Amino acid sequence: MGPSALREVRPHLRPEREDLDLRRAAQRPDPRQRGQPRHARTEVTARLRTPLAGEHIRHLIEHVNQDHTQDLLYCLQAFTPSDQPTGATLTALYADGADVTAHAPGRATTHFLAFPDAASPQVALRALASEARKKLGVDAPKRQATWTVHANEPWAGAYRRLTLDLGTDRWETWQPGDCARFMFTADEGRPYTLRRLTGQRAVIDVFTHDATAGSVWASRLQPGDEVQVEGEWHEQFPDFTAGEVVLFGDETSLPTLAGLLDRGGFTSSVTVLVELTDLQLATYLDDVPAREQVQVTWVRREGPPGEASARALHQLGVTPAAVWGVSSVSGARLLKRELKAEYPEAEVRVKAYWRDPERHADTDASKV
Ligand SMILES: Cc1cc2nc3c(=O)[nH]c(=O)nc-3n(C[C@H](O)[C@H](O)[C@H](O)COP(=O)(O)OP(=O)(O)OC[C@H]3O[C@@H](n4cnc5c(N)ncnc54)[C@H](O)[C@@H]3O)c2cc1C
Repeated sequence: MGPSALREVRPHLRPEREDLDLRRAAQRPDPRQRGQPRHARTEVTARLRTPLAGEHIRHLIEHVNQDHTQDLLYCLQAFTPSDQPTGATLTALYADGADVTAHAPGRATTHFLAFPDAASPQVALRALASEARKKLGVDAPKRQATWTVHANEPWAGAYRRLTLDLGTDRWETWQPGDCARFMFTADEGRPYTLRRLTGQRAVIDVFTHDATAGSVWASRLQPGDEVQVEGEWHEQFPDFTAGEVVLFGDETSLPTLAGLLDRGGFTSSVTVLVELTDLQLATYLDDVPAREQVQVTWVRREGPPGEASARALHQLGVTPAAVWGVSSVSGARLLKRELKAEYPEAEVRVKAYWRDPERHADTDASKV
């Protein structure tokens, strides 16, 4: 590989490092001349850098590959000569960058993308994706709108059910699991799921607890108040028509679970497992029509998030083809591991919707 090719794929490399890398690379024979595939480029990176390792890095890579493929594609499009890649995989993380493989029919090419700033890998990946979106002109959130509170009422014990008028805003493609970020101030907000959308009226259910930022925001809103809404995200579900389905969640994902159960369309039995701190919240699903094929089990959270669900999963006695669910960051890791071991044939998707108390600083559930 010639130095100019290497330069193309290192958009942010600091000059002294780039010189060093290019010098070493120039001394190496061009892998293509040795008849090796183009992605032998990884070999160069691997020899010069030590990949970061450990449980946290493994989970971060897994999470990015599951939930942020679009961001990886943006990075490839913005910073490499990749020609319309059809897929992207984060393959390794280093202190100063990441290896991202671009997939195209019959071809896989790995590019090293240097991080713009020295930061934790999670923060650095976020900054890289943000730069890519800016460079490609896709940085602005899809939605920046002002909605108005129509009603704010208690729901199922610990929720505030907010009915919101969209005004001139439009959300024509709503489906269960769609969510937006609701801003409390110019800089702070939380994602909440649109439990339902009827015409120009959306319902969100905010789980209130411990006087947190989200709880205080939702409790104080009055009819007529304006709320700032940013972005638009669509939950990625496995194929629910592939066979038996397992859904699991907690207080924060009941709005998505309720939306899925409302919609129906399952072709086989559906087992729903919900882990709650307070089982009185089980009335949340009271406005969802009962279906014969759906079995709901409620478990009390005892110990760290996800543990009670993991125990209950082993006793479900089902063989699902599709599994989708939500927990905290640590709960999602635990459950993903357990589910993959328990149901190796199933398509399993697990999301983290909230951060565990002790890891507050580095485990933002809604962003990478
Ligand atoms: C895609 C997506 C959709 C979401 N949809 C919804 C929704 O429809 N309704 C909803 O209520 N939430 C939803 N959430 C979660 C929501 O965005 C907040 O992150 C969450 O409610 C915590 O925010 P907070 O301000 O209450 O607490 P934070 O200020 O984030 O945290 C304060 C403290 O509370 C603890 N904490 C946070 N959440 C919980 C919890 N659930 N149980 C116990 N302790 C907790 C934290 O560990 C921390 O110690 C969603 C999240 C995502 C990523």
